[in-house]
Amino acid sequence: MRLFAPFSILIALASFAPAVRAEEALNQEDVSRVAEENPAALGSLSLGRPYAGALVNGVQLTSNPLLEVMQPATAWATEETRAYLEAAVAKVHAEFPGSHPIFVGDVSREPGGRLHPHASHQAGRDADISFFYLPGKQHWYQPAAANSLDLPRTWALLRALVTDTDLDAAFVDLRVQKRIYDYALASGEDAAWLDRVFGFRRKHENAPIRHAWGHFTHIHVRFYNPRAQELGRLAFGPLVEHSRFHAKVQTVRYLVRAGETAESVASRAGCSPRSLRALNSGNVAPGLVIRVPLPGQIAPVSEVVVPPRLRPTGDVLSAR
Ligand SMILES: [Zn+2]
Repeated sequence: MRLFAPFSILIALASFAPAVRAEEALNQEDVSRVAEENPAALGSLSLGRPYAGALVNGVQLTSNPLLEVMQPATAWATEETRAYLEAAVAKVHAEFPGSHPIFVGDVSREPGGRLHPHASHQAGRDADISFFYLPGKQHWYQPAAANSLDLPRTWALLRALVTDTDLDAAFVDLRVQKRIYDYALASGEDAAWLDRVFGFRRKHENAPIRHAWGHFTHIHVRFYNPRAQELGRLAFGPLVEHSRFHAKVQTVRYLVRAGETAESVASRAGCSPRSLRALNSGNVAPGLVIRVPLPGQIAPVSEVVVPPRLRPTGDVLSAR
């Protein structure tokens, strides 16, 4: 059974999904083998980027006491995205018994890719979710106003997303940000930490809570997925090669000139040498007319760097 040893290790990794971090030695050889033999065993994969991406082996969010899903057909996510959302909402529910579920709008389609009318939401890492609202105002797309926004619960939600998940960004209209910030500051949160968290304060670049027009009816959250992104990176080539993943790649014809290699052409085209070879059945050499992907499409990404979670000074949660 020597042949299958790395295979079963990978299945074991896949079974405790979000707890597995990218640094836990997922090697290319094992991932390639599993991608060919049993891609389902890889678990969720986030391919490409939020604006040009795909989802493989996604999970469909379903309504439960934590989440109320508005459109099941567009509520596909990675396992990590689902776990992060549910963990953050569960923390609010634990702190404030009797909380309503968070309403969940568009996440991704089952295969990911373009989801009208959004530009992002393509790779299983974006979700439109609601704020917490006061009684009588608890429905999807309710504007966040003084008479509708449940500040303690909404702040607890954003706080949990920042401290307990790999949040990339939470897009919230700056007027709503200010309301929540004022509440958080008045409730005794560390002011310096709040400045790192709230983008409208303009104190730090890359504050996770960012302004986006129109986001006073919902929050758009985007997560890093250490596991699904890293696996997606490693499995991209093999999945395309074995036709397990059908990226609709638009290409142009290109005559490879003397002195050019798969590496040099790929570098100019903004794709990886592996995906370029996969597109051309391995035949990339001077004198051949090959297919080169147009830019702006799903392409393998470089290694994912997940920033540390932002935690207030004195917070005793274990650092990662
Ligand atoms: Zn959105």
